[in-house]
Amino acid sequence: MAQQEDVFKKLVSHCKEYGFVFPSSEIYDGLGAVYDYGQNGVELKNNIKKYWWDSMTLLNENVVGIDSAIFMHPTIWKASGHVDAFNDPLIDNKDSKKRYRADVLIEEQLAKFEDKINKEVEKAEKKFGEAFDKEQFLSTNPRVLENQEKKDELHARFAKALNDSNLEELRQIILDYEVVCPISGTRNWTDVRQFNLMFSTEMGSTSDGAMKIYLRPETAQGIFVNFLNVQKSGRMKVPFGIAQIGKAFRNEIVARQFIFRMREFEQMEMQFFVRPGEELEWFAKWKEIRLKWHKALGMGDSMYRYHDHEKLAHYANAATDIEFRMPFGFKEVEGIHSRTDFDLGSHEKYSGKKIQYFDPELNQSYVPYVIETSIGVDRMFLSIMAGSFCEEELEGGDTRVVLKLPPALAPIKLAILPLVKKDGLPEMARKIMNELKFEFNCQYDEKDTVGKRYRRQDAIGTPYCVTIDYDSLNDNCVTIRHRDTMEQERVAISALRDIIADKVSVKNLLKKIVE
Ligand code: ATP
Repeated sequence: MAQQEDVFKKLVSHCKEYGFVFPSSEIYDGLGAVYDYGQNGVELKNNIKKYWWDSMTLLNENVVGIDSAIFMHPTIWKASGHVDAFNDPLIDNKDSKKRYRADVLIEEQLAKFEDKINKEVEKAEKKFGEAFDKEQFLSTNPRVLENQEKKDELHARFAKALNDSNLEELRQIILDYEVVCPISGTRNWTDVRQFNLMFSTEMGSTSDGAMKIYLRPETAQGIFVNFLNVQKSGRMKVPFGIAQIGKAFRNEIVARQFIFRMREFEQMEMQFFVRPGEELEWFAKWKEIRLKWHKALGMGDSMYRYHDHEKLAHYANAATDIEFRMPFGFKEVEGIHSRTDFDLGSHEKYSGKKIQYFDPELNQSYVPYVIETSIGVDRMFLSIMAGSFCEEELEGGDTRVVLKLPPALAPIKLAILPLVKKDGLPEMARKIMNELKFEFNCQYDEKDTVGKRYRRQDAIGTPYCVTIDYDSLNDNCVTIRHRDTMEQERVAISALRDIIADKVSVKNLLKKIVE
């Protein structure tokens, strides 16, 4: 674990050193849990967004996009339940004065039981080798069973406390399981209190009677309140979806782990409207499609898992997370929720407007049910960076840091490197770049040795380096070097475009999703 924490620290400094992510307002000592994306970060982020957007709007003829405003009528947040129920249960340690989310402390305790079980499995796997039967081991080993029982017991108690919003019971669980503050090491806890996560501001001047409005904590409500606009103007037929990418704001209390939990972040959400009664079928479909979207990136299937929710929100009848194995454990990157007709129904009630769909096949009107897929751009970014970051030992004792980014997402697709800064090589390099730059983000670099230039490109995840040498002047060939294998091959300049296009195209990723 300590080793993993170390990797995470290195990743955070790598993000800064190579222009991916900077702390916000750094020259004023920063602003908590707010970050800026640098020259490489913004490219990676844009590529993630494009991959998501295209997967939604190109692959599904019944999914269209919108871009709604961040400011919305305040009653929207009454209708959505955020004014009354968008709370985190907080608890303070009286000795360290540190504040924690009570639910997170308990989830960490649950993870401890799971860790113990996994350790037993690992030990037994080593001991029994090929003959190891995991299923049998899990159902018979006394230590596994003991931990499983403890975990189930805690799980049941925790789920009940959450469902009943029983804050005293949450505190009691923390006391009963002897959870200690990682800073002070004590169990001197305050009561658990609810804290609303929405930021508010005022619109209009005070003399006019300013209106308290909120910065949206999710993009979804902009989709719900535009349901009729899009359905009517686009002549959309249920089932259909509306996708949106945009900023969201939450006054997170325990903001840690870099860009995993931010106060200003970006979401990519898609609300899919279906006939009542068909929602669970669509839920299963979107669950599968979304996991394929992640896996198509080639980071390794074992990096992902589903996690069904402990507590279903009052409006949901099914919910799951897609988790990614971050350096600090499996964590939620995306949520998939079956939200019933709660949102549209609630907006109907609060706005007094009829928000229904006339289904010509059924010859009846209804409030559609909703399946939502909701993913954080920043968390996705972090998962990609964490999954790509490698420190490799090379032959001869050298090391290199390489970001093995999925090529379609890499900020720079190819570096163009004249071997020397003279004798016509830079001119030839520029000429190649001038042809390729319309399609690929290229970077020209003529400073330092080629070896050093390769390292710089490895560190930002550039899949290809193209070197122009003296022979190139005569044979119109260049050396192309592959980032992950470091293999080099001699290819004709005229072949470059196709070689690169094949590897870096978003199209090839999209094809994997529909396979
Ligand atoms: P968590 O339990 O981690 O607080 P959540 O369940 O509240 O997350 P949702 O409301 O389902 O999250 O939001 C959907 C997605 O938005 C999440 O899967 C995550 O990727 C992203 N997200 C939510 N909160 C944040 C945040 N504070 N910073 C960055 N991304 C976030």
